[in-house]
Amino acid sequence: MLLPVLVGAQVDADQVKIINPVNLKDVKIQDGFWLPKLKVWDTKTVYDVLDKLEGKYIPDRKDIIEEKQKLGRTTNAFLNFDRVAQKQKDTKIHDGPPWYDGLVYETIKGASDLLATYPDARLEKKIDAYIVRIAAAQAADSTGYLNTYTTLMESNRHWGMNGGDDKWQHDIYNSGMLIEAAVHYYQATGKTKLLNVAVKLSNYIYNEIGPASTNNVIPGHGGSEEAMMKLYWLFKTNSKLKSRMTVPVNEDHYFAMSKLWIENRGNYKIKNTGLLRRNDSSYNQDHLPVFEQETIEGHAVRATLLATGVTSVAIENKDARYVKTANAYWNNMIGKRMFITGGEGAVADGERFGADYYLPESAYLETCASIGAGFFSQRMNQLKADGKYMDELERIIYNNLLSGISLAGDHYFYENPLKATNHIRWSWHGCPCCPPMFLKMIAVLPSFIYASSANAVYVNLFIGSEVKIKIKNNVAVNIKQVTNYPWNGKSVIKVNPSASSVFTVYVRIPGWSHGVENPFDLYRSSNPSPVCISVNKQTLNVLPVNGYAAINRQWKTGDVIELNLPVQPRMVFPNDAIASIKNKIAIAAGPVVYGLENTDNPELDNLSFNTTTSFSVSYKPELLNGINIINGTAINSKSEKIEFTAIPFYAFNNRGESSYIVWLPVLKTP
Ligand SMILES: [Zn+2]
Repeated sequence: MLLPVLVGAQVDADQVKIINPVNLKDVKIQDGFWLPKLKVWDTKTVYDVLDKLEGKYIPDRKDIIEEKQKLGRTTNAFLNFDRVAQKQKDTKIHDGPPWYDGLVYETIKGASDLLATYPDARLEKKIDAYIVRIAAAQAADSTGYLNTYTTLMESNRHWGMNGGDDKWQHDIYNSGMLIEAAVHYYQATGKTKLLNVAVKLSNYIYNEIGPASTNNVIPGHGGSEEAMMKLYWLFKTNSKLKSRMTVPVNEDHYFAMSKLWIENRGNYKIKNTGLLRRNDSSYNQDHLPVFEQETIEGHAVRATLLATGVTSVAIENKDARYVKTANAYWNNMIGKRMFITGGEGAVADGERFGADYYLPESAYLETCASIGAGFFSQRMNQLKADGKYMDELERIIYNNLLSGISLAGDHYFYENPLKATNHIRWSWHGCPCCPPMFLKMIAVLPSFIYASSANAVYVNLFIGSEVKIKIKNNVAVNIKQVTNYPWNGKSVIKVNPSASSVFTVYVRIPGWSHGVENPFDLYRSSNPSPVCISVNKQTLNVLPVNGYAAINRQWKTGDVIELNLPVQPRMVFPNDAIASIKNKIAIAAGPVVYGLENTDNPELDNLSFNTTTSFSVSYKPELLNGINIINGTAINSKSEKIEFTAIPFYAFNNRGESSYIVWLPVLKTP
């Protein structure tokens, strides 16, 4: 009989304790849930997104069909680079939205991480050909400046200056996405062509709008703060790489840019002039100095990507102001503004965060915003070595991330509401930001499964996989995890160090497994079954601290940890402060949130539920690529008891257009 793990404690909430995700190339996914999906995304989705960016698709949305009729073709993001390479300027001809360059780069970043895991000569050749066109566009301007929209539409307004607006032009955002893509493409392939483009552009940015310039320019869209940190870290940890570059590198300048873009938000003074720049708004987090921002505001993608960058700087400099702001953003986001599916950004107007506890079922919840929140939570885990941050990344990846794509891998959601009528995924969108962002997260996800420090390894996600992690004294720890998660709560974790040694294995114990559905009580649930953990069949009675069970011992080859998490269905209750879902419940099992689709439940609109109902679970290998379904009893409008079928939120709308609900009305007792 295994003894239960006791309910966990939280100590020293403000601690900084840096841990590191693992190198993508050191992890191999061998997982029944994720591997088949990754195969689809790697062999189909990445090509699908690139084809559609090139305009090779048949539109299925009215607005794009009309645009095609007007233009005589679908838009092609790569033509913009070719136009700029031909030295075209202010022609007022640009394909797609101003951030189309950025979406190309984001797709290259995702593709790079896929290449790191699954080498693919055809994909690499395709990317190389794009890079030639991108480099040619940059070569047209001797400064290194590159944003095709601004050059083709309003070339005297670099970075939104001279009466322009970077919130619309996306000069800085697109630059950041190029930098990030270049770092990841180099890491995947060792090739430096795109990296040279990125460094040349970064040097120009530093000279034009860096600390020494009198231009106070802040990003209209977050993301570049994080990108500059990646460029800084790349050269800081690999100084030999500089000798392979054709352009000068000063990594300290890239770190300085990241801090400047953060610290100049809400600071409108233009140096040496007595003038003020135009202040922006909470839309791009410019309403207050960042260190005075106590809530996460504005456009949810911009906000979560800025928060990710703030956290990355904190990881580097451990500056208390950065740590405090990262904490404030995360606590507000997770404690008062997060949807049960990990969705973020309640309000369609401005694609923004709503007020505290404004969590309506019909909310906007852009795929990108949830993914931005996921990147933010991963960085927080890295900053503070606390498992609660991974709880929230996990909530996202099993719900609002996966819902963003069809099971077939070629149709996408922009919005992921918790209640929808006749919802359907699209093939492509006039603003197709979500598919590239989706690729970015799923491609890098394997590196988030584990983390390490000098004398510890961390098991953060329960995904069947194998990894090699180097710790102190040149010990390499090989970990092999076998699991049928999330359908089953058992994970067998084999720990094989290269030499028998003392270190700690931290195993994340999710909050939901012991009655902490949300660390701020935004949602509540209880889990009657205990969490059990053993080493070599000997039960451990450990108290999880900061989200982890810490197992410190002399590890030797053949040691096996067995973790059993209670993944049977549980009811989730909203905090009373959430007015829109009072007297409603949701069903979750492990990290997966369930709901009802009218395909299985024709009386969907007229059902109520009893909080004493019991659930049964069954695995359906033939349904929706293999899912657990949950059955229980509901009451229909004629007060009859009928059986309902709940499926995972992510699987909705894969059997044609449909309607669904996540929050279930509780039966009113007379
Ligand atoms: Zn999006």
